[in-house]
Amino acid sequence: MKFGAHVSIAGGIPNAPQNAALLGCEVFQMFSRSPRGGKAAAITPEVGRVFQAECKKHKQAAAYIHAPYYINFASENNRIRYGSIAVICDELERASALGVKAIMTHLGSAKDTTSEQAIKITAEGITKVLKGYRGQSKLLLELSAGSGEIIGDTFEEMAEIIKLAEKTLGKKNVIGVCLDTAHIFASGYDIRDKKSVEATLKAFDKVIGLKRLGVIHANDSMIPLGEKKDRHEHLGRGKIGLECFRALARHPKLKKIDMIVETPTQAGMKKDIALLKKMRG
Ligand SMILES: [Zn+2]
Ligand SMILES: [Zn+2]
Repeated sequence: MKFGAHVSIAGGIPNAPQNAALLGCEVFQMFSRSPRGGKAAAITPEVGRVFQAECKKHKQAAAYIHAPYYINFASENNRIRYGSIAVICDELERASALGVKAIMTHLGSAKDTTSEQAIKITAEGITKVLKGYRGQSKLLLELSAGSGEIIGDTFEEMAEIIKLAEKTLGKKNVIGVCLDTAHIFASGYDIRDKKSVEATLKAFDKVIGLKRLGVIHANDSMIPLGEKKDRHEHLGRGKIGLECFRALARHPKLKKIDMIVETPTQAGMKKDIALLKKMRG
């Protein structure tokens, strides 16, 4: 297992690998554009080449892109729904141009509609995203913290969306999942010790399939189990605790999975990564 953090692209995407190295990352995650909106700067072949060279120079084994936060595949507003599809298509092409391993996106909220309808139109959106896509960067759907009508807060709901989308696409195993420890804990999955981590991974494997697990976001949670809010905390300082991260870092079935911290401060993330490396042994 390799460890990394979400790092800044201030001054340009090619700066991200160096920012990652400064935090002790072995892999890293970044935005490819402003997460709150606006037009993205083009990824020219030159930007792709420089980015790859910088990854090599700073010994970063893989990079990931987190899609913007405003994505909502289940919006009843056509502009938002089709805008989300267009942005994720664009993010996948940008990721492929950079040689990024995968992108992850939140799915959105079903506040405009029933949960059944939300699952259906979310799956339709994902199908539209992947239909004409030929790039090598993978699409990962992120399990959410379940506040309000947030989509993808249970393994069952996520599995249903993937199943529907892949059925329409006529393809198997093209959609992956990003598991965020803080999100699933807030959604009610206990992971506070080795035993509960094992039980939760077993449930994930049964319902979604471990082969779909693309990356883990390793965040402790400021809020208690099942309280449906998304508040990240540094590892060992929240309600999840270190046992969870120790169990994940050493897990024999997760050796090829990368783990990314998205915790509150830069200095804290550096410590989180050092801690994970120590736990891995
Ligand atoms: Zn996320
Ligand atoms: Zn979060």
